[in-house]
Amino acid sequence: MKQREGIARYQEIIPDWEEFTTACSRPLPLTIRVNTLRTSPDDVYARLTGKGFALTPVAWSDELFVVETPRVSKTIEHWLGMFYIQEAVQTLPVYALDPQPGETILDMAAAPGGKCTHIASRMQNHGALIANEPVGKRQPSLMANINRLGVLNTTVTSYRGESFPMHTRFDRVLLDAPCSAEGTLRKESTLSDGATGSAIARLSRLQRRLILRAYDLLKPGGTLVYSTCTFAPEENEGTVSHLLAERDALLEGLDLPFSAACGVTEWSGVEYPPDLSRCARIYPHHIDSGGGFIARLRKPA
Ligand code: SAM
Repeated sequence: MKQREGIARYQEIIPDWEEFTTACSRPLPLTIRVNTLRTSPDDVYARLTGKGFALTPVAWSDELFVVETPRVSKTIEHWLGMFYIQEAVQTLPVYALDPQPGETILDMAAAPGGKCTHIASRMQNHGALIANEPVGKRQPSLMANINRLGVLNTTVTSYRGESFPMHTRFDRVLLDAPCSAEGTLRKESTLSDGATGSAIARLSRLQRRLILRAYDLLKPGGTLVYSTCTFAPEENEGTVSHLLAERDALLEGLDLPFSAACGVTEWSGVEYPPDLSRCARIYPHHIDSGGGFIARLRKPA
């Protein structure tokens, strides 16, 4: 079927292909993440159900609810920053990063701020968070979300990540990289054709520069999470393999609260190191969300 020709190239690495394609053609559930800087999950549940919204808790997270209608974005609770509308899969890189209060953390590609505001909430607004976004037209949404959600420990910078200044070293760095976004195909139906080879090649070159700088910015013992919302191994395992070849990074396993797929170790005639199976590939049918890729790396102490 023409519509799926692009994505069909992943059939050999997605074993439960039928479930994958069925999930891709279903509408994406709308999820909200409670902003614990402002309130609690119980409070949001009581307020929104009191207004007639149907909320279903997400089994593997105490911060997420599925909501039946997008009208929830028009409520005073949303305006006051009590929650952030976010795909469930987009919360996983922050859980993998495991930010702690008092740390110094860099979010290298931050707009519109879904993960940055989540990191700040896990830090309970204590410590220092740098939210970096070089694309000028994307900065207003980042700053608006930081303000709306009551984030107080964050400074916004606008460097190209690959040349982010080396003056400071960080306990943790999140590189939620610019990518071909194939995993968002449930909301962007044009992406079901898959990304073009030239876009994937261009993004993969950028991601390789970004991941090296992200790693170099870590303190010894620091943690780097590399994430994308695409399926292309060239942008996922290929980028992480490049880091492993160039630096002494250690690839750690991920303890996700549901079953996901492992990173691939061979794709299109290219072999990746066996460790790459420690990465996670999250497909739309795993948690009824979008698709994503996560790798967690550590710099030796
Ligand atoms: N982390 C964000 C969130 O959760 O809301 C989403 C980030 S989006 C996947 C990738 C971001 O990288 C975009 O905002 C894009 O403008 C930014 N970007 C593009 N080129 C970049 C570069 N050279 N360095 C850093 N960020 C870049």
